[in-house]
Amino acid sequence: AAAAHKWNFGAGPAMIPRPVLERAQAEFLNYNHTGVSLMELSHRSEAYENLNNKAQSQLRTLLHIPQNYKIIFMQGGGHTQFAAVVYNLIAWRHQQNKVQHRVNADQETWKNIPVDYIVTGSWSAKAAEEAKRLGANVRVVCDAKKQLGAYKGIPAESTWTTSDPEGALRREDRATGQTPAYLYYCDNETVNGVEFPFVPSMHDPAVPLVCDMSSNILSRPVDVSKFGVIYAGAQKNIGPAGVSVVIVREDLLQTSEAQDGVLPVPLMLDYKTMVKNNSLYNTPPMFAIYMSSLVFDWLLDPKAQKVQDGAYFERELVGVEAAAARNDRKASKLYKALEESRFCRVVVTDPAARSKMNVPFRISAAPKNDPAAVPNKAEDEKMEAAFVAKAEAMGLLQLAGHRSVGGIRASIYNAMTEEGVDVLIAFLKEFESQYR
Ligand code: PLP
Repeated sequence: AAAAHKWNFGAGPAMIPRPVLERAQAEFLNYNHTGVSLMELSHRSEAYENLNNKAQSQLRTLLHIPQNYKIIFMQGGGHTQFAAVVYNLIAWRHQQNKVQHRVNADQETWKNIPVDYIVTGSWSAKAAEEAKRLGANVRVVCDAKKQLGAYKGIPAESTWTTSDPEGALRREDRATGQTPAYLYYCDNETVNGVEFPFVPSMHDPAVPLVCDMSSNILSRPVDVSKFGVIYAGAQKNIGPAGVSVVIVREDLLQTSEAQDGVLPVPLMLDYKTMVKNNSLYNTPPMFAIYMSSLVFDWLLDPKAQKVQDGAYFERELVGVEAAAARNDRKASKLYKALEESRFCRVVVTDPAARSKMNVPFRISAAPKNDPAAVPNKAEDEKMEAAFVAKAEAMGLLQLAGHRSVGGIRASIYNAMTEEGVDVLIAFLKEFESQYR
């Protein structure tokens, strides 16, 4: 039976715990005694409205989301949020500037209002590119590739140009009287395996933090009150692709209307319209939201967490706290095994910035403890391909790195059990022993 079991190390979409899939299968034809499948119900029905509200309140419980934050379900994935944050927050900042009679607020245009980006990997780079493409005044306040030579860590916050030794407000902004609309970062870079071990704090507190948590939401507790906007495409730790979760601080929902100088927010990107309509402005991705709600149930169910969580249940952890304890153990044993291996090199060299969700590494036939060994790129790539193929044959699926960077990537989201990580480590050792 063990050989037939499949362990899915893919980066997405979507990693769903097995018991959740089984429950969805059982409920597929007859949702909650309605006699029809959930996806056939009207999204204006009471049954669906209840589900919509339930999913929101489950997420509020799981992440301890304060009451002054709204939860929205949107479509279009992470890429759509790259654009949505630009429209919504520039409109908000422009309105703030006018209300506060800031210098030249009346002549202000879309291009005058800066937006700040911390770039630590390919997803934050793409988000900054999209903002630029939309004509925003993008300032990259930290470029990890430039500073470190590659996406392999997070430069200290004191080196970012948001940080001013004389205080939170950068000198340039003080001179122009211009405050950026937001400061953006990606909490976990899915492709590069870089995860923030801290929440940025050295910027002007009047600038809302916007964070892409697509690939690590629900993997560890987060202090939501530090953020203006948190968003996540569902398809890693939440549910199937098709829905994105947006958590937005209420006071940022100022206007959706056209204002002099800045563009109106397209309705389908507009946080205020979504909040006003309780995420039911148009037909929502009902099935994806339903599946997400089943995942939330699973996280909130102590019995389910007991099965998954072994000893930690005895400490009565459930929810995100239980997932975080499990994720810590999974990641630390995997990184330890990679460190001890003669052939594996973890791509992210700064241990503090290593992701607990996506673990990219390289394999080289030149042992890393032998300074005389010269790596051969073609040989190494062959070895990596052999690793992926042999793993696949053993039921360890989707271990190839992202197509843009190559190598190996083991994604160990909430749905990956500790046992699965143990199986991967055993496979690693076995593979290596063949090369001794
Ligand atoms: N942000 C992060 C961190 C991601 O991992 C991804 C996709 O994997 C995206 C954004 C883009 O999401 P989507 O494919 O839903 O547009």
